Amino acid sequence: LMAVLNPGVESVMIDGALYQDEVSARQIMAVPTVMLNGEPFGQGRMTIEEILAKVDTGASARDAEKLNAKDAYDVLVVGGGPAGSAAAIYAARKGIRTGVVAERFGGQVLDTLSIENLISVPHTEGPKLAMALEQHVKEYEVDIMNLQRAEALIPAGDDGLAQVKLANGATLRAKSVILATGARWREMNVPGEKDYKGKGVCFCPHCDGPLFKGKRVAVIGGGNSGVEAAIDLAGIVSHVTLLEFDSKLRADAVLQAKLGSLPNVTIVTSALTTEVTGDGEKVNGIVYQDRISGENRHVELEGIFVQIGLLPNTDWLKGTLKLSPRGEIEIDARGQTSLPGVFAAGDATTTPYKQIIIAMGDGAKASLSAFDHLIRSPAPVPAATIVD
Ligand code: FAD
Repeated sequence: LMAVLNPGVESVMIDGALYQDEVSARQIMAVPTVMLNGEPFGQGRMTIEEILAKVDTGASARDAEKLNAKDAYDVLVVGGGPAGSAAAIYAARKGIRTGVVAERFGGQVLDTLSIENLISVPHTEGPKLAMALEQHVKEYEVDIMNLQRAEALIPAGDDGLAQVKLANGATLRAKSVILATGARWREMNVPGEKDYKGKGVCFCPHCDGPLFKGKRVAVIGGGNSGVEAAIDLAGIVSHVTLLEFDSKLRADAVLQAKLGSLPNVTIVTSALTTEVTGDGEKVNGIVYQDRISGENRHVELEGIFVQIGLLPNTDWLKGTLKLSPRGEIEIDARGQTSLPGVFAAGDATTTPYKQIIIAMGDGAKASLSAFDHLIRSPAPVPAATIVD
């Protein structure tokens, strides 16, 4: 993108699956990795806005000033994934003042490769769908504030306006708020995991699997996503060790049968992962405790794919509204949270089955509920009434 927009910028792209020697020389263990003038600059998919925000160091303070000056919204959506996008479109179509504030517009869809279960769209790809979401939202008068992280929600006071405080210090105000902050990969929280993230510890088998061609990997987690990942990786890597904490796998029987038929997969149950080991540069193994014998075992390998579920992005809401024991925002059938005027949708909530189509439907529902709330809220008293 930078090279297309600025002829002074030169860009070289390397396909790691085709040029494995380049991958080893640069010690790349996750893609995409972006180097700037030979130094690591970023990892994961980045938009032009993200790149600019990183190179322009004064941007945050300038943004805060602009955001603080904004008028209150009728509906402020926090989150720009499928749920947030649907909520914004439904709100804007009612002709009310709508804003979307998102840390990364597109959400998890940006990290997804192939999508084949979005009804009426037989096949699409994550980044393509993310772009379509943004284009659809931009068809309407929606104020999109991308690359902004919400850090606190302050319920409405006497003025009827809730406040959303952002990481850059700005505060946005709104008559109703829709929370659609989605979820992120759950981590193991063991020593070594953080140190070797992107250096052998991965979360997306579709993205990073090909980098481990012919190598040994472990998959952590024996639920559907773990077993699917192990089946997928077994076709690329030399050997997969699947580690499951429980005494049995939790994946669907058909997936377990497929996994059991693969010659290069070892399944270990009752295994508590305790450490990721490495040589200082990259992963060289994993340690687990056999929960039956209590013995610690070290497996030598080059890659670890963590597939132990999703965590809702709701840490910033703790103590403000009702969360389930799993940290999901509790909502009723209309998307109403425990706070009046605050609604929620998608993966961040107690709604079962975390899927794109469900998140979109939830977003639309929460938005209609927010509109219903607004039309039933008492109209503000005029500042002054002149009587002849
Ligand atoms: P998200 O997509 O997680 O979006 C959350 C949004 O909130 C983002 O914009 C994020 O930046 C923003 N945000 C988070 N915290 C804050 C904050 N504090 N302040 C401001 N913004 C914030 N589903 C399918 O239906 N089909 C599939 O094939 C499929 N494949 C998948 C593959 C992968 C690898 C993954 C990870 C998920 C997949 N899913 C699939 C699930 C699907 O992506 C999710 O169910 C869906 O994206 C949820 O939408 P959402 O809007 O609730 O949350």
